[in-house]
Amino acid sequence: MAHGDSSSPTPPPHPDLDLARTCDHCLGWGTVVTRDGEHDLCEACQRDPGDGSAA
Ligand SMILES: [Zn+2]
Repeated sequence: MAHGDSSSPTPPPHPDLDLARTCDHCLGWGTVVTRDGEHDLCEACQRDPGDGSAA
């Protein structure tokens, strides 16, 4: 059994700044800060593919 290695913190998401540039929701950052203080991709301009199966 291999347990997940959670030694490293969650890496910041990589938003597409070209999409975020005109976004008023994230003010062009492409990311928003959640209540937990974590950075999350802006759902308004950054489309979440849903799954990471596609490269
Ligand atoms: Zn946005």
